[in-house]
Amino acid sequence: MERKLFLFNTLGRKKELFKPLREKVTLYTCGPTVYDFAHIGNFRTFIFEDLLKRTLRHFGFDVVHVMNITDIDDKTIKRAKEEGVSLKAYTEKYTSYFFEDIETLGIEKADYYPKATEHVEDMIRIIGKLLETGIAYKSEGGVFFRIAKFPSYGQLSGVKLDSVKAGERVDHDEYGKEDVRDFALWKESKVGEPSWDAPWGSGRPGWHIECSAMSMRYLGETIDIHCGGVDNIFPHHENEIAQSEAYTGKKFVRFWLHSEHLIVDGQKMSKSLGNFFTLRDLLARGKKPRVLRYLLLSCHYRQKLNYTEQSYNAAEAALQRIDDFQIRVQDALEKNTISKVDNIVDKTKEDFDKALADDLNIARSLAALFTFIKDVNTIIDKEGLGKNDKEKIFSTISYFDRVLGVLDRFRWQKELAIDREMVEKLIEERNLARAKKDYSKADTIRNRLREMGVILEDTPSGTRWKFVE
Ligand SMILES: [Zn+2]
Repeated sequence: MERKLFLFNTLGRKKELFKPLREKVTLYTCGPTVYDFAHIGNFRTFIFEDLLKRTLRHFGFDVVHVMNITDIDDKTIKRAKEEGVSLKAYTEKYTSYFFEDIETLGIEKADYYPKATEHVEDMIRIIGKLLETGIAYKSEGGVFFRIAKFPSYGQLSGVKLDSVKAGERVDHDEYGKEDVRDFALWKESKVGEPSWDAPWGSGRPGWHIECSAMSMRYLGETIDIHCGGVDNIFPHHENEIAQSEAYTGKKFVRFWLHSEHLIVDGQKMSKSLGNFFTLRDLLARGKKPRVLRYLLLSCHYRQKLNYTEQSYNAAEAALQRIDDFQIRVQDALEKNTISKVDNIVDKTKEDFDKALADDLNIARSLAALFTFIKDVNTIIDKEGLGKNDKEKIFSTISYFDRVLGVLDRFRWQKELAIDREMVEKLIEERNLARAKKDYSKADTIRNRLREMGVILEDTPSGTRWKFVE
């Protein structure tokens, strides 16, 4: 039986009862552009999407999930050129790093990860039809979508077309546009760039068209849910709607869900402020993946999440409480002949689910979990557990963990097993520091490794290391 779930739809800006169109829920989430490591703001969105998918399944829905891999755009082309490798080799490397990262954070994999470069034919077909119907036009620089011919443009973002004035948001290579508001479906090929042949000339697809094409290819012309970060709403998702609906004449997406930004110490992440972190940056600073998952998960997706040292520590303390509780239950005696937890187990599950059903109100779900911990602790203190109560408590924890994916400490300990690659990298950094006679930096690195349980031994043939518990 599927349970009731209310989701906040950006299209219309209100909570609506969710029901899938067909037997399976069709879910499309905008994926990474694989030109670099993903940053923790990206992972905030991916973890929200993971929570959404796990909740749908927990509530009895079958889900088919597609996430695209953007393996062609200005940045990937530029970086591959700088490194002197092919675009394919370059993007494959960062795609595999991306998969490692989502595994590190316990994010469940999508059913499909289509790559943009492998679906250019689909994009050419869509653009061809848009040209035929006159809603797209070919001009200097490529093929553009004529926004003036799509009257409902702005329905998702509320952007008023008149407010986009000439001179704003104009890419320099898009000078062929009739109207500054129009966007590129296809970019004419430039010397030295990868390109595909199309009836209107060779070139490469724009970014927006890839999501429309791959969403339709794997999930059909109308899908249930499309997610992304709030910065995708305009222009990316607005443009996806325009080109898809102009192509099919049907509604493209029924529910649009967007997660808010992640900020660091109250400020927008940026490289120039020095507060820009990839997942790997944080792991290298000794942060734990399990704590990061909890932290990214525990703030409601429509609120800004402020990453600070304190919020990290609070997440770690919360997990410690959960672990201590599980150890305590394990050690407790089942003194009574009748169960003492039956009532609170049912009530807790109900509270947990009710909160999730209200647009994934994670704060209230976690509150239900901590109330449960408090109540069971009181029972252990006062009257003791009853027969089979331990099993009931642990099965309740597992019930929560189907959705949270963070409570089972044994699983995470296994995955915390030492990252050899990182150790080697830190040793290399330390040797470099020593060569430059920067001994304080070398010592800092040695200490950090010590915290990770790694002991160094400098020998004439180089630095050896071993792992101690
Ligand atoms: Zn997209």
